[in-house]
Amino acid sequence: MERGEQATREPIRIGLVGIGKIARDQHIPAISRDPRFVLAATASRSGGVDGIPAYSDIAAMLAGPERIDAVSLCTPPAGRIDIARVAIDAGKAVMLEKPPAITLADAEALVAAARDAGVPLFATWHSREAAAVEEARAWLADKTIGAARIVWAEDIRRWHPGQDWILDAGGFGVFDPGINALSIITRLLPGSFTVEQAHLAIPQGRACPIAATVALRSGDVPVAVELDFLRTGPQRWDIEIDTNAGPLRLSDGGATIAIDDEPPRTAPNHEYARLYARFATLLAGGQSDADLAPLAIVEAALNGGTIERVEPFAF
Ligand code: NAP
Repeated sequence: MERGEQATREPIRIGLVGIGKIARDQHIPAISRDPRFVLAATASRSGGVDGIPAYSDIAAMLAGPERIDAVSLCTPPAGRIDIARVAIDAGKAVMLEKPPAITLADAEALVAAARDAGVPLFATWHSREAAAVEEARAWLADKTIGAARIVWAEDIRRWHPGQDWILDAGGFGVFDPGINALSIITRLLPGSFTVEQAHLAIPQGRACPIAATVALRSGDVPVAVELDFLRTGPQRWDIEIDTNAGPLRLSDGGATIAIDDEPPRTAPNHEYARLYARFATLLAGGQSDADLAPLAIVEAALNGGTIERVEPFAF
């Protein structure tokens, strides 16, 4: 779908659900900048957007007088399946923040429900839209890959202030940001992944890990993953891949690339603009896009990992 062609159509009327950090930081600006979309209404228990009709839940929003063509879900992952089902049952196209659900079974159920209802479902992975990811994938395509290392280390208090849900059941803990790294590595390396070993550091009184190490394998390629939610000082969102043509390094969450001994190059972040552009394309074609590979890795690590109880965590 060309942009000019879409401009002659009615904009897609979005109902945005869960008005929190990511809705405000990324979704609302991306929707407002893209002429293919208009924000028609919101559904959130307390949040809203100035000048936009606000409802307290999705059922009320869909029962309201505003026409809604598609919904975009920005709530925490626990409970998202129920919200998505309401949308699908109402025949609305659905865009899901990552991770698409708290279990693979739930995510697969949503994919099946959308297919049966004939509505597009887009399970987004925003980090796959980071500036350098596709260049890295293209460069790696004809290389022999030896090993890969991921370090995703950030300060939970800085990036997720007060978000207790992230350490509650279904919150994914350090895998909430860590799944972004996994969404990139599953795009970069061909083949499926297995989890060989995982170690989870879970604070006493919490359900999800605050740090983890995971040993993955994709074919012959070992991938060592280090996730840390307590990193103060320099923050790291890095992936390093050894190849027969030298190392490839992605840093800044996929925005910066360095190949062999070349200096690093950084490009601007257009992750959410690209996600909404893709959603518009999927809607135009009546198609879905739901790759669940990153979620499968996280589920295997959380279910099979050894658990170490560490000191309690408070924001
Ligand atoms: P958040 O700031 O906590 O916002 C989520 C919003 O959802 C809340 O403000 C809340 O608004 C609503 N909500 C509905 N049910 C809830 C519940 N049971 N517990 C808490 N809030 C509930 O979270 P967020 O950082 O925006 O993250 C939301 C999703 O986006 C997550 O899946 C996350 O992985 C993803 N994401 C986050 C970031 C980031 O940088 N923060 C980046 C990319 C993706 P009401 O109180 O008004 O209902």
